[in-house]
Amino acid sequence: MGTIYAVANQKGGVGKTTTAVNVAACIAEAGYPTLLVDIDPQANATVGLGLSKHLEPNVYDVISGDATAEAALHRCDVPGLWVLPSSPDLAGANVELPRVPGSERRLRDALAPIRDRFVFTLLDCPPSLGPLTVNALVAADRVIIPVQTEYYALEGLAGLLDTLSLVQRELNPHLTVAGMLLTMHDGRTRLARDVEDEVREHFPSLVFETVIPRNVRIGEAPSYGRPVIHHDPHCPGSDAYFELAKEVAARG
Ligand code: ADP
Ligand code: MG
Repeated sequence: MGTIYAVANQKGGVGKTTTAVNVAACIAEAGYPTLLVDIDPQANATVGLGLSKHLEPNVYDVISGDATAEAALHRCDVPGLWVLPSSPDLAGANVELPRVPGSERRLRDALAPIRDRFVFTLLDCPPSLGPLTVNALVAADRVIIPVQTEYYALEGLAGLLDTLSLVQRELNPHLTVAGMLLTMHDGRTRLARDVEDEVREHFPSLVFETVIPRNVRIGEAPSYGRPVIHHDPHCPGSDAYFELAKEVAARG
């Protein structure tokens, strides 16, 4: 059975999209059929993989019930990686979903018929704990939580963990944390090392061994519409995302 990972943190700019795109690309490159579902109306993952944010049908059509997930699958330049693209229309779902009872399960129900075609499915969440992120947490088996290695790293994590507990209790008892991921780590600074120590101390056993370094190549890759492993396969960012993909797969 395929495993579904939500990449979530209500903070923006912590590396969710970068992680979803690059872990998905690394796993697909390793030969496992992989699906990336972009459920952020900003559509950064969609565009970062070289696709338009105006494709139809897209994830909004799927969540609205106007298209099947099967119909909304698109290929990208990474062999073995399929994308269920986002679109700015998806912002409307934040208003529409809460009005419909049971709408927390829309994404899970839509993905059910196709989930076993993919060994791994990654859900790139928006920077909020709203209805779209809840849909992702209900659809997912595991959550990857990117944490930017900076001074306020731990702030907001309590809120995220509370939401996870609520979803586990009410909607998806099966959900577990795959791990917290330290991102944009600048090994030259004392601050980055201190933050890493603090996060590891707070959440022993939850933090991935692999740390993602701050790396210019990672930041550049989306503007070329490709993952960093295609942009520069041998840069430190690519090495780190390959290591992380192995660690994610090994944790199961
Ligand atoms: P989120 O999805 O959590 O909002 P992003 O993945 O979009 O965060 O990352 C925010 C910005 O930081 C983007 O411009 C991205 O390219 C850049 N970025 C992410 N990770 C790294 C990194 N390890 N090194 C350098 N830049 C990064
Ligand atoms: Mg994002």
